[in-house]
Amino acid sequence: MKPILVQGGRVIDPASGRDETTDVLLKGGKVEAVGRNLGRPDDAEVIDAAGRIVAPGLIDLHTHLREPGQEDLETIATGAMAAVAGGFTAVCAMPNTDPVCDNQGVVGFIVSQAQRAGKARVYPIGAISVGQQGARLAEFGELVGAGAVAVSDDGKPVMSSHMMRTALEYARVFGIPVADHCEDMTLAQGGAMHEGTVSTRLGLKGIPSAAEEIMVARDIILAELTGGHVHLCHMSTRGSVDLIRRAKEKGIKVTAEACPHHFTLTHEACEGYDTHAKMNPPLREEEDREAIRQALKDGIIDVIATDHAPHHYDAKEREFDDAPNGIIGLETAFGLAHSELVESGLLSLPDLIHRMSTLPARIFKLPGGSLALGAPADLVVLDTATPWTVRPDAFYSKSRNTPFADRALTGRADVTVVRGQVVYQRAAEGGRPGTVR
Ligand SMILES: [Zn+2]
Ligand SMILES: [Zn+2]
Repeated sequence: MKPILVQGGRVIDPASGRDETTDVLLKGGKVEAVGRNLGRPDDAEVIDAAGRIVAPGLIDLHTHLREPGQEDLETIATGAMAAVAGGFTAVCAMPNTDPVCDNQGVVGFIVSQAQRAGKARVYPIGAISVGQQGARLAEFGELVGAGAVAVSDDGKPVMSSHMMRTALEYARVFGIPVADHCEDMTLAQGGAMHEGTVSTRLGLKGIPSAAEEIMVARDIILAELTGGHVHLCHMSTRGSVDLIRRAKEKGIKVTAEACPHHFTLTHEACEGYDTHAKMNPPLREEEDREAIRQALKDGIIDVIATDHAPHHYDAKEREFDDAPNGIIGLETAFGLAHSELVESGLLSLPDLIHRMSTLPARIFKLPGGSLALGAPADLVVLDTATPWTVRPDAFYSKSRNTPFADRALTGRADVTVVRGQVVYQRAAEGGRPGTVR
């Protein structure tokens, strides 16, 4: 493996507080040196990063890769490619595959498929319950032993408080978080979108914010009871933000994520029965969107995650009520976050990298998220200046389900390096030539 010298970029490393124009040398799969005038090793590849941002690779704590079981929607290889094209050097794969990732065999399969693909690192998340049936706890020790970094029944909520309590106690023994999809099914049942003025106008059954908030409150109470670490997935309501704020003030071990769609869109996007706006949790009201943005600024919500959820074109063409939930997100997350949060002046660029790289690594105890000497050579060169337009037909993901088609954004990956190797380099589009030489 050749050394890589990344020259002349604005190096932002929130882990060390570094933000300066300098060079980074990657060697032997690690960060070898950071500083000016490092000298070019004879055999080194050079990445000209002048005018661009050099940051630790982005890390997504919440991705659905669909393999095993639904390889027509996404595979580990296509998902890992979409990830690096989006600037992510690592993604955590949710376990709602077929079969469910509830044993060491499936965890091992995901790890080996990811190695074969050789793009982004993929960390499996094991199921909380066997088959995600909510009846019997999976063998956390076995899952962790095979490489799982967290447990979750995402896709389905953990309805039994007893099971959530046991999961938190058991996960604590292994030092891993329990990531929960907070939804009280008895309240959400039959709902297709957020319960509010738009659902009334469209004549669709709504999902009240309370369906999420009840479970957020429960999870916080159980985290306090057990001393376990609960990670709250895709927070969408202002009430959830209030609950998390109070829990953090009390020192309860709770972390939370928000997805770009929840700080970008509102339930108004469902007008015209656009199924690309159908997700779970649903798009909420303007006050919720505002609260999520503010919570990201204040650190009440720790990280930005994608909830990348590939679906078929046909499936999304169904009636709104019958269409599946979710959108893909790996290739738009950074652009949306940069355009919505940084360009608006809400977050600084180092803040954003903190929430998309450094903190995700810390929360799930993953390698990366830092450009310290000896850290993994996982890095991204970002162009935050040149406007670009979302073109779903150019996605590396196998699926196209996004409500952001044709949206003009700033912020995207030019070059992505994983384990000291260039795994993605954006093709020049009549503008700047390729950067690796
Ligand atoms: Zn979920
Ligand atoms: Zn999910």
